[in-house]
Amino acid sequence: MNFHLPPNTPAEGVPARSPAELADLRARVDALNTRYRHHGAVSVLTGALNDPEAGDIALVSSFGAESVALLHLVAMIDRSTPVLFIDTRLLFAETLAYQQEVAERLHLSNVRIIRTDPATLAAQDPTDSLRDTSTDACCALRKTVPLENALQGFDGWITGRKRFQSSTRAALEFFELEDATGRIKVNPLAHWAPDDVRAYMDENRLPRHPLVAQGYPSIGCQPCTSKVAPGEDPRAGRWRGEQKEECGIHFVNGRMVRKGPST
Ligand code: SF4
Repeated sequence: MNFHLPPNTPAEGVPARSPAELADLRARVDALNTRYRHHGAVSVLTGALNDPEAGDIALVSSFGAESVALLHLVAMIDRSTPVLFIDTRLLFAETLAYQQEVAERLHLSNVRIIRTDPATLAAQDPTDSLRDTSTDACCALRKTVPLENALQGFDGWITGRKRFQSSTRAALEFFELEDATGRIKVNPLAHWAPDDVRAYMDENRLPRHPLVAQGYPSIGCQPCTSKVAPGEDPRAGRWRGEQKEECGIHFVNGRMVRKGPST
């Protein structure tokens, strides 16, 4: 369904793609998925970061509960990879501290902190309460639009999304095409299971987000993240009580639309 952007928060220059351009990009993505079908995360990442055809790629990381595994993989290949971290200004203090700790530990040299500009925030959500009336509008203001603006100039981006995380990710492939922007999304951990992530972190002695031990297996903004009881889905604490599994907003020909839960 259509989503009404908060005024004054446009994503700048999201290009509309012609059908021919989209068909060409889709063919490239299909070819990449075929080529890497039997490969692992390191191979997919190495290809994405080094293949000239892939263009300029950034890693988008929340520095959340499992982020350090992918950050470590990227750091082993190229520590100067641009890492985009969206600070919604509503994150846990522990996440902000953890972000700095991990960046220093892994010697990541190109971490970029992405925030909504203060004037826009003051105009759209002066009391930090927009989420109380519309989590979609809040995510758009604080995440989707700033990320889209930060991704201008990149040909693709790497995510840490995995199939097991939610029903909307159950068919996730290594490479996806964002129809609206023509960017390629790279999901090198798509096939990893929870045990794979834990084993990787253990084997490489990577620091854990401190909130995991306090009952938060999935960590987003403080107002929208709650503890998860034993036996619950790990993401049950995200937007608890809402029919929402993702930030849920994407771009179609420069306009924002709500992404349905089954897509
Ligand atoms: S997760 Fe919650 S607080 Fe964070 S941007 Fe979305 S609605 Fe706002």
